[in-house]
Amino acid sequence: MTFDTIIIGAGWAGAVAARQLSRSGRKVLVLEARDRVGGRARTWVHGSNTIDIGCSWIHGYKEGNPARGIAEELGVTAHLPKAAQPGLYGPNGALPKETAVALGGALASAVAAARTPFPVPEPTESLADALFDSESKLFTSGVDRDTALGFARTLEVPLGLKLENASARWAGWEGATNFSGSDAAPDGGYEALVARVLDDAMANGAQVRLNAKVTEIKEEAGGVIVTAGEQYTCKTAIVTIPLGVLKRSLGIFSPSLPERYTEVVEGVHVGVLEKLLLRYSEAWWPNASTTGGYTFLPTGPAPSEGSSALEVLEGSTLIVANFGAGTLPPGPSPILLAYLSETPATALLKLPAEEVGAAFHEFLQKRFGVQGPKPEEVELTQWLNDEFALGATTTPSVKSQGERSPMDFKELSRPLWDGKLGWAGEHTEMENRGSVAGAVISGLREAARVEWLLKKGV
Ligand SMILES: Cc1cc2nc3c(=O)[nH]c(=O)nc-3n(C[C@H](O)[C@H](O)[C@H](O)COP(=O)(O)OP(=O)(O)OC[C@H]3O[C@@H](n4cnc5c(N)ncnc54)[C@H](O)[C@@H]3O)c2cc1C
Repeated sequence: MTFDTIIIGAGWAGAVAARQLSRSGRKVLVLEARDRVGGRARTWVHGSNTIDIGCSWIHGYKEGNPARGIAEELGVTAHLPKAAQPGLYGPNGALPKETAVALGGALASAVAAARTPFPVPEPTESLADALFDSESKLFTSGVDRDTALGFARTLEVPLGLKLENASARWAGWEGATNFSGSDAAPDGGYEALVARVLDDAMANGAQVRLNAKVTEIKEEAGGVIVTAGEQYTCKTAIVTIPLGVLKRSLGIFSPSLPERYTEVVEGVHVGVLEKLLLRYSEAWWPNASTTGGYTFLPTGPAPSEGSSALEVLEGSTLIVANFGAGTLPPGPSPILLAYLSETPATALLKLPAEEVGAAFHEFLQKRFGVQGPKPEEVELTQWLNDEFALGATTTPSVKSQGERSPMDFKELSRPLWDGKLGWAGEHTEMENRGSVAGAVISGLREAARVEWLLKKGV
């Protein structure tokens, strides 16, 4: 049987493309290397608790993110978090609300100034160069310099990079056009939502094979042959393999991809973001029912080779979500979830998860100044080591090879082999790279392009 389209990868991009094409009556096969669908949409489940440990927010929920529309079509609701107090901890304990407000305002001003820099920064200039400059607005809050520096590192979570590695020229470039503003979390978790998208595709005849790692994609007259254990033939193929994985998979294409394409694949940077979840028997920490999250500023030196897990945590800025406050359905649960940015994540992933969990528990007791029961469960994500992700998402970096620009993401979307080989995934969307919105838009884009090609009769 010849498929109209074979889609490689069953994350957001692949699922959306499969749904669109199967709704148009196209014969679609989805090949997914994992034993589950969702890709970087992954949900931790315990009883009625569902917590996303990959993507968690529909960014720009009220501002038109297409993931919202898809969720609604499939009957999946989403919720904006209820209001809760933030908590900011310096080296000597909780900081007053006014300090947090002053730091937030100064950082926002510094970021705004760095967003539209003129003259345009050199490609080697980092966000740290811009934000830590002695003239930076970061230091206008009246709070001491170390506290301001530690606070600025909260930006490293969404960037997926330490500030010294983030490109001053391009980090946040898409901020004026991407989906942002309000954030909502899909009820039941993101992974189940992707599964619903694929269920809908299958109801329209699409086939989905799990444990089907694609090892060869070959052009042949009039089509493409895809190997995943078995060989499958199709008129068109859409590859949604994440960029980190694609960097190591260039050998699976025959004929080889053009140098212009591979230069971009190799050059664009993939960032790091991990989540560390502790589940307790009770929410023992201060103001558990009223504080939405805690930001911990460093109490020790920046982590270095050989730092213990506790030293890594103490030397880092950590953002910790508190599920004890019940700001999202199904209600309060005694769970804390830390977002680990590049520096702590790369150091902690070298250690066993149990050791990291124990160190985080010790860290929390010290910082909160109270003792709590031992955690009942520890979950530490491994996106950086996961052979089918190899990182969080694309992010503009001074560490990239070659001259980079947002046009790279366009370049990565350009079809090859007379249009028969298409590309989708967050890394192929210039204005929404690094997000679910980007993956969804790319899936819709490629489905429309392939549909047009098939109508023309490839
Ligand atoms: C920790 C974390 C938090 C995030 N938070 C948010 C957030 O709150 N909001 C947001 O909008 N975005 C967030 N993101 C980004 C978002 O998760 C991604 O942009 C999006 O899920 C990417 O979808 P995709 O389809 O492009 O790739 P993926 O979901 O990675 O799908 C690609 C699929 O290809 C499969 N694959 C790989 N190699 C092969 C092969 N050889 N053969 C077959 N299949 C293969 C993979 O297994 C995977 O299923 C976050 C990401 C991470 C890691």
